[in-house]
Amino acid sequence: MTTPIPLLINPKAGSLFRSGLKAWLDSHRAEFRIIPTNSAEDLTAKARELAESGEPVVAAAGGDGTLMCAAQGIIGTGAALGILPCGTMNVFSRELGIGSRRFDTALEAMHGAVRQEVDIFTVNGRPFLQLAGFGPDAGIIRRITPRMKKHLGAASHIITGMQVAVEHHPIITVTLPDGEEVCGTQVILGNGKRYGGEGHLFANARYNDGLLDAAIIQLESTGILFEVISYMLMRGATDRNTTDFTQLRQFSSCTITAEDTIDYQLDGDYAGTLQAGDSAIIERLPHPLQICVPTLPEPVTHFGRLLAHPVLETMRKQIERIKETVHPRE
Ligand SMILES: [Mg+2]
Repeated sequence: MTTPIPLLINPKAGSLFRSGLKAWLDSHRAEFRIIPTNSAEDLTAKARELAESGEPVVAAAGGDGTLMCAAQGIIGTGAALGILPCGTMNVFSRELGIGSRRFDTALEAMHGAVRQEVDIFTVNGRPFLQLAGFGPDAGIIRRITPRMKKHLGAASHIITGMQVAVEHHPIITVTLPDGEEVCGTQVILGNGKRYGGEGHLFANARYNDGLLDAAIIQLESTGILFEVISYMLMRGATDRNTTDFTQLRQFSSCTITAEDTIDYQLDGDYAGTLQAGDSAIIERLPHPLQICVPTLPEPVTHFGRLLAHPVLETMRKQIERIKETVHPRE
């Protein structure tokens, strides 16, 4: 009998039920000591308390945003983060080989000895795990109301995307440590390779190289969308396959400014708005985060990758949602 792993969950999160995690936990009761949390701050505080009390593994259930809250509590301690990926996209967990909603693989990783070190970067002091976006992609996320998300699911991104596509996009400037300035209308910062589900955007990104990968795209929204999708179909942007509209950079810090108001998102959640004259400072935290990963990553076949493409994923989720409405669970 192994010692139960402390598991932080928000008992009211809809994703707990939608992802099937609730049912899975019911059949794995002896494995975990469930600790309910009621806010992001509470989650971070409880994660820190557990890590500081000497727990080797602190587990959390949720999507990338929720996992980041738990990570904030354990960075710099000796604990590793165990993740039960029950969010919508689970980009971070896919990249670490745990996959999306593969709870058995996640548990095996927590019991195993393999740990992945992950650099953590911050935007004006606020950390993110996988992605940060400045410009239209964040504008889309800001406009999606919880009601839209509930009724339309991932399709709300497409509808809102069309709305954002017709707007004017201010020029964003990324200033690198050596003083170089790179301009675009959409800036995407990646800690890993993926952007949205299985889609790779940064072919050369690694979690533990101390560097953040950046794509700075100079196009209006619809063009940005096609540019991003084409890179994802090519398994990621590299110096060889970028067009005149995209510039790639790697750095450990930078400053982002814009000529007019722009939104930014961290791990798929709206995080703030920069006014003209405001700066977003991107820096790396001194300590990396330790994550429990499986010995063998969850295999992703070409077909699986295709099925996990954001567009197909959106359609599949929509069908699931319709089925759920017709035959509600519980
Ligand atoms: Mg890196």
